[in-house]
Amino acid sequence: MEREHRRCLIIGSGPAGYTAAIYASRANLSPVLYEGLQPGGQLTTTTDVENFPGYHNGVTGPQLMMDLRKQAERFGAEIRSGLAVKADLSKAPYVITFDGGKEIEADTVIISTGATAKYLGLEDEKKYAGMGVSACATCDGFFYRGKNVAVVGGGDTACEEALYLSGLAKQVFLIVRRDVLRASDIMQERVKKAENITILWEHNTIGLFGEDGVEGAKLVKRKGQADEEIVKIAIDGFFLGIGHAPNSELFAEYLDLDEVGYIKTEGDSPRTKVEGVLKQLSRQNATYKQRDFNSLRVNNYELEGVPSWYV
Ligand code: NDP
Repeated sequence: MEREHRRCLIIGSGPAGYTAAIYASRANLSPVLYEGLQPGGQLTTTTDVENFPGYHNGVTGPQLMMDLRKQAERFGAEIRSGLAVKADLSKAPYVITFDGGKEIEADTVIISTGATAKYLGLEDEKKYAGMGVSACATCDGFFYRGKNVAVVGGGDTACEEALYLSGLAKQVFLIVRRDVLRASDIMQERVKKAENITILWEHNTIGLFGEDGVEGAKLVKRKGQADEEIVKIAIDGFFLGIGHAPNSELFAEYLDLDEVGYIKTEGDSPRTKVEGVLKQLSRQNATYKQRDFNSLRVNNYELEGVPSWYV
C-alpha cells in the first residue's frame, strides 16, 4: 500500500475545502486536497449563483467552483481526485486512506466533507435536477419570484425554506407527510400565519411532471387510509426540506458528533477534540450553514478571517 506524508491534508472540495486550501497554501503548508465523490461539492448542482461577493454579474455554480480551485492551485495547493474511505485519528500523524488504497499520513487534517441534502429518492428528482428541483431555497428561490412552489418536509428546515420562499413566490405549498409539524413552535406559528403558505397535511409526493421543467407534482393524500386519494398540484419549483445528512461517519470513532451528526468543535473555532484535526465550516453546521465567517488555525499558523462562501 502506498503511503505519503503531508503536512496538511484537506478532505472535501466544496467552498470550505478550497478556502482552506487557499489559506493553507499561502501559509506554505503545501496542502493536498482530495475532492471526494462530487468534485466541487453541492454548488456544482446549482445553476446561477448571484450572491457570492465579487461576481457582480452572477456566476454558475460549476464556474465558481472552478475559479476557487484555480485560486487554490495558484498558491500551490495540490488537488487530487479520490474519496476518503478510512480514517485513523488515534495518533498524529493521522492516516487517511483513499479509494484505490493510497494512504496519506498528515500532521494536520482539515475536514470539509460538508453535508448532503436528503432527497426523497424519486426518479423524477434526478430527471428534473436543475430544472425545478432544488434542495436550497436561498440558492434558487430567486428564480421563482411570482411563481408557485412546493417545499417537502415538516421540520425547521422545511419551515425556514417555506418562509423564505413565501417572500418571493406567489404561492408556497408545504407538503407534510403527517398531520403535525416537527418544527419548533415559533417556526410552526410563522408558517401558519403566512398568507401565501398552504400546508398540505398527510401528503406524500410520488412524482413530478412537466415538459421542459417541473410543472406540477403528483401527491398521495392519506396514504394507506380508506380515503386515500391521488392529487396534483401545479408548481414551478419543488424544494426538498427533509434535512441534511452530514458526511461525518468516517470520523465518528474519534470525534464528538452532535445529535444530528455534525462534528463538534471547540466553541466557534474549527478545532475538534483531536489536536491537529480541524473542521472547516460551511454547510457542515446546522445553525450557521452559509452565514458564517471563520478563522482557521493550521498547526501554528493563525489564518484569520476567512470570509466564507455566501452562496
Ligand atoms: P428534521 O429531521 O428535524 O425534520 C425533517 C422533516 O422532514 C420531518 O418533518 C420529517 O417528517 C420530514 N421527512 C423526512 N423524510 C421524509 C420523507 N421521505 N418524506 C416526507 N417527509 C420527510 O430535519 P431539519 O433539517 O428540519 O432539522 C434538523 C435540525 O436542524 C433540527 O434540530 C432543527 O431544529 C435544526 N434547524 C434549525 C433551524 C432554525 O433554528 N432556524 C433551521 C433548520 C434546522 P416527520 O416529522 O414525519 O418525521
